[in-house]
Amino acid sequence: MTSSYETHEYDVLIIGAGGAGLRAAIEALAHGATVGVVCKSLLGKAHTVMAEGGVAAAMGNVDPADNWQTHFRDTMKGGKMLNNWRMAQLHAMEAPDRIRELEQWGALFDRTDKGEILQRAFGGHTYKRLCHVGDRTGLEMIRTLQDRGVQMGFDVFMECTVTRLLKDGDSVAGAFAYWRESGRFVVFKAKSIVIATGGIGKAWKITSNSWECTGDGMALAYEAGAELMDMECIQFHPTGMVWPPGVRGILVTEAVRGEGGILRNKNGERFMEKYDPKRLELSTRDVVARSIYTEVREGRGSEHGGAYLDISHKEAEYVKRKLPSMYHQFKELADVDITKGPMEVGPTCHYVMGGIKVEAETTQTSLPGLFASGEAAAGMHGANRLGGNSLSDLLVFGRRSGLAAAAYAKKVGLPTIDAAQIADAERAALAPFESNGTENPYTIHQDLQDTMQSLVGIFRNEEDLKKALVELDKLKERAKHTKVEGSRLFNPGWHLAFDLQSMLDVSEAVTLSALARKESRGGHARIDYPNADAVWEKKHNVIAKKGTDMTRTEWPSPEVPADLQKVLAEEK
Ligand SMILES: Cc1cc2nc3c(=O)[nH]c(=O)nc-3n(C[C@H](O)[C@H](O)[C@H](O)COP(=O)(O)OP(=O)(O)OC[C@H]3O[C@@H](n4cnc5c(N)ncnc54)[C@H](O)[C@@H]3O)c2cc1C
Repeated sequence: MTSSYETHEYDVLIIGAGGAGLRAAIEALAHGATVGVVCKSLLGKAHTVMAEGGVAAAMGNVDPADNWQTHFRDTMKGGKMLNNWRMAQLHAMEAPDRIRELEQWGALFDRTDKGEILQRAFGGHTYKRLCHVGDRTGLEMIRTLQDRGVQMGFDVFMECTVTRLLKDGDSVAGAFAYWRESGRFVVFKAKSIVIATGGIGKAWKITSNSWECTGDGMALAYEAGAELMDMECIQFHPTGMVWPPGVRGILVTEAVRGEGGILRNKNGERFMEKYDPKRLELSTRDVVARSIYTEVREGRGSEHGGAYLDISHKEAEYVKRKLPSMYHQFKELADVDITKGPMEVGPTCHYVMGGIKVEAETTQTSLPGLFASGEAAAGMHGANRLGGNSLSDLLVFGRRSGLAAAAYAKKVGLPTIDAAQIADAERAALAPFESNGTENPYTIHQDLQDTMQSLVGIFRNEEDLKKALVELDKLKERAKHTKVEGSRLFNPGWHLAFDLQSMLDVSEAVTLSALARKESRGGHARIDYPNADAVWEKKHNVIAKKGTDMTRTEWPSPEVPADLQKVLAEEK
């Protein structure tokens, strides 16, 4: 295998072209930085494009009583108070401006009769708060941001995967990547870097996430010396498809419940009356997911092991207009007409609240020059994310990342990267071709997904988590002996060999943190510690690399200031 590479230099390098990466790029450009955006899928195809139900912002168009304080309180309560309060505050205060700005850039939201942006109800939100475009909100958002960014002039490297961050002393200095099509290498030099690589769902067997969600950004940051936080907090969305088997896990948007969908068990009982009589189907996702799981476990599940979700009491035309993707998804994939009968749904691994530890105002990580936002970053959502709060998170903190990365780039010179680092990154990338091993990356990936699904799933206990750590050790060992056949020309097995390293890193971080948190909170449910513990409310698990080992420490939550304590104490 020959070793040569092309080189590109930017003030700011953005890794990821989802909502967070694109919004960061726009802001960095607006502040005079030269910007390169790298993404491993095509531009416009990032996972954000799949977002359905809407983007949360306290605009008060439908419920005029809404305001940022209520949004802040809902977010903190939904996150079971593990949120970084400052991030939750900034998010609630800034989200409406980010939506108005998106509209000015061309996004066409659904409208009220008065011509204002329409907002719908979603779980855990006190008021109707989700701005939406039917159930295709992510598509509109990506389209708008992409048009804006391209017009402003960023360079895009698509179908290009970053495999390592490069450093100059303690600071980040660039990234090593390969073109997926040709397998040729690329070296990016940059004064600052924003990681916006999204989630980690592909480490689980049943997931709503796209193929890109392998935790690369978190693993890249961790390997370079940054810290990860709250990795145990994984959101299992209550409603994924459960039948037929080939489509298991595909998301059934919360908008179905937002529009009045009702959940029933096989006996026809509206079981949410038992688990959350006040909010029913619009309870938070962690509660609804565990309720469905419990109904199934206790023998009251639907035909294929889920629950029935019914919206057929609404006018057929209304359902088709407000939930067009759901209508087509069920018609085409399951031969079910949702205007006539119920869907079968069950929990699916959906979102990671944990991620790279960042500072609230700037999204700066613990590594100088490295910033992170979107699903790859931790803090904003605490132990459980409210629906709609991710898209607004991408806009608010994507913008802040771009702003801070551009400001940082102005202060420093172009870093130097020694040739040995690049040679080492190349060696690591080519290792699966040169290995004498016999391990197939697809088999290891399947075994990893089985391990995470069965031992680090929706309900956890000490015995399973310890078993998972042993299994993960074995998988890591096997991954060292991965063998890939063929050439570097579009070779999915080779691509997976790298993704696997990322998934193993993040899976270990999730399991280690889940074992340590001896309580149940939001997306982290322990059967052996079923209650929340006031001591754990005040601390976070932090994961970092020391030598070759993954280490865990605890970080105390910053105190919520008195004025916000007051907001939290108020009830609607
Ligand atoms: C089906 C579905 C529906 C959803 N609906 C909603 C909703 O209605 N409202 C809401 O708020 N949230 C929703 N979510 C959650 C939300 O969509 C995601 O959390 C969000 O889009 C993540 O955006 P991001 O910018 O952080 O990352 P992503 O959109 O995941 O983008 C990540 C980018 O990083 C790139 N990348 C990854 N690794 C590498 C690498 N190694 N090298 C180079 N590039 C890399 C990818 O190619 C991609 O461009 C939904 C999620 C799903 C699965």
